[in-house]
Amino acid sequence: MEIKITKTLCPKEKPDSSTLGFGQVFTDHMFIMDYDTEKGWHDARIVPFENLSIHPASTVLHYGSEIFEGLKAYRRADGKVQLFRPIENIRRMNSSAERLCLPEIPEDMAMEALTAFVDMEQDWTPSAEGTSLYLRPFMFGNDETLGVHAVHHATYIIIASPVGSYYKEGINPVKIMIEAEDVRAVRGGTGYIKCGGNYAASNRAGAKAEALGYSQVLWLDGVERKYIEDVGAMNVMFKIDGEIVTPALTGSILPGITRKSCLEVLKSKGYKVSERLLSIDELSAALADGKLEEAWGCGTAAVISPIGELCYKDVKYPINNGEIGEITRMLYDTLTGIQWGKIEDTFGWTKEI
Ligand SMILES: *Cc1c(COP(=O)(O)O)cnc(C)c1O
Repeated sequence: MEIKITKTLCPKEKPDSSTLGFGQVFTDHMFIMDYDTEKGWHDARIVPFENLSIHPASTVLHYGSEIFEGLKAYRRADGKVQLFRPIENIRRMNSSAERLCLPEIPEDMAMEALTAFVDMEQDWTPSAEGTSLYLRPFMFGNDETLGVHAVHHATYIIIASPVGSYYKEGINPVKIMIEAEDVRAVRGGTGYIKCGGNYAASNRAGAKAEALGYSQVLWLDGVERKYIEDVGAMNVMFKIDGEIVTPALTGSILPGITRKSCLEVLKSKGYKVSERLLSIDELSAALADGKLEEAWGCGTAAVISPIGELCYKDVKYPINNGEIGEITRMLYDTLTGIQWGKIEDTFGWTKEI
């Protein structure tokens, strides 16, 4: 694939890494390519970061044809930059595209686009403890008509943002509210893909939880409102009476790459993990009997997020005295160790730029 490069004439000043938040500062360039049914993917280019111009009838603005990914480039101690399991993001993006009738991108083309772009922007990867360069590939339907149908034109873009450490004051367990009314997804719907619409639909419950002092929502299944699914933008795992349990991927749960990596790390260390249905009744009973030993969320942003309190129908349940548990800590140390190149990557997950 040929990628045409236009360099910015006015490079921005790089931010001080101690002031970085999430997704507020963007790098100097972006990757773009276009799709139409006649030409396929074409005009791959890296251009200065700038506003987009799209037609007011563009599909994405009316019918929500949008999918995205999230992954990070990490600065290792030796100065090199590496990605964590990027092929998994590329495959998941294609699974999202298939569900929304957006065009898939051949894996080698998507990998070439990603690595060429990260190579170009790699000086933006901060080096302070816990910081990284967040990469946001996304695609949207871009037909210039109000007719409702599978799209004939699409745009694929990658932008990048240096992000701060998620845990500036050490790992703090989060408080999570179990949502009993709104649902995020149903089987047969779009819960298993990363699309903007899933997030739009979860905002109301998220705002309600936040107003009550909870950082995220734990979702129950959309049909019976009985089985535990995801937490906000994370998957969730529990240690109940010695058993490590995570909800099985039934179709309405996002197949997280951090989730998959946790399962592989746990199995490699000889832990038994069950991917199965976990009902709110079983979880409440474990909470009441003190058998819920640890709970944590897992996702690219925080990597591992210990859960210190769960609230369900106004009853608050502290977990592990609001402290980080042993397995939660081990997973955090192992995954962040591999991502920042501090421990050997025996799984072959990292890709050096
Ligand atoms: C992105 C996401 C996750 C985490 O996936 P990772 O690949 O681990 O970052 C979990 N749940 C939802 C709803 C998500 O959108």
